[in-house]
Amino acid sequence: MLQQLLKLLADGRFHSGEALGERLGVSRAAVWKALKRLEEQGFPLQSVRGKGYRLPRGVSLLDQSQIIELLPAARAEDWEWHLHQELDSTNAEAQRLLNVGGMRPLVCLAERQTAGRGRRGRIWQSPYGQNIYMTVVVPFDSGAQRLEGLSLMVGMVLVDTLEAAGYKGCRLKWPNDVLLDGAKLAGILVEVAGDLTAECAAVIGVGVNVLMTAPASEIDQAWTSLRLSGQGGSLDRNVMVADFVARLGAAMESFRVQGFMPFARRWSEYDAWRGREVKVVAGASVVEGLNQGVTERGALRLLTVDGEQQLSGGEVSLRLNDAT
Ligand code: ATP
Repeated sequence: MLQQLLKLLADGRFHSGEALGERLGVSRAAVWKALKRLEEQGFPLQSVRGKGYRLPRGVSLLDQSQIIELLPAARAEDWEWHLHQELDSTNAEAQRLLNVGGMRPLVCLAERQTAGRGRRGRIWQSPYGQNIYMTVVVPFDSGAQRLEGLSLMVGMVLVDTLEAAGYKGCRLKWPNDVLLDGAKLAGILVEVAGDLTAECAAVIGVGVNVLMTAPASEIDQAWTSLRLSGQGGSLDRNVMVADFVARLGAAMESFRVQGFMPFARRWSEYDAWRGREVKVVAGASVVEGLNQGVTERGALRLLTVDGEQQLSGGEVSLRLNDAT
């Protein structure tokens, strides 16, 4: 019923409790209870005495046909689309689909993840209907080394998408986080499926906090959402998903030929901690130095007391190491 209620409220118009009850075939009290639950879950419900309830325009559930309509026709056909109300993880579902039907381009979306993944088995908080949980699969036929720098390129595409949606100041924390106002707004998790030396696919997981104001359990670092940023940009997840997929498809065309190199030139514009003192933590090992950007392959260039070190992504975490 919450789902149907969300659908009704997302048309940008006001609906009275009575009208909602009639449409859903339930009592006003039941409608009121459900509205309360939506509010508790963090949906930005607006209520005006005498008019009723509505959600801000653009706050709606994911809609596959709308997303496809928003894409240029040729682009929509490039992908096999999967949209679920709930999945363990969109990356896990994409991997299962590849195992069964072979390597192919696909997009997998969910309204909720029950086991959303970060790196090293960490959890990505994924409440229902509020954020974007998306996996895009891009097949490669020449081995995984061609994927170097891919997660950085994906981050750049994501920042461009958010900028187009009206959000300024999103920046990347190497190798895979989008920060806004110094807090984590989005994460990217690239995994590889198939045979690493031959036919394989990049399984590109993207989580973007859109409406979230209160995750079910605490997030152990500073985080934010588009709504919390207060910038007043679009909150329409369907538009953002379509725009991201279109941009990623275009960026992949040059990435396939030239790898990360053409993107490396623009990295400094996206770098959240350009010229800052940072430390790179990998288990018990910590390397400190000045962040000097990235190499053509996407490795972090760190000026340490022993000279420049180049560190590749994967299992490492970057932290600020200065007071400013
Ligand atoms: P770091 O570089 O900070 O160590 P990471 O990039 O390795 O982080 P990931 O593995 O990508 O982190 O993401 C998992 C972490 O992100 C969790 O441990 C938690 O701190 C944080 N997190 C979980 N869910 C969310 C969310 N919805 N929004 C922002 N941050 C989240």
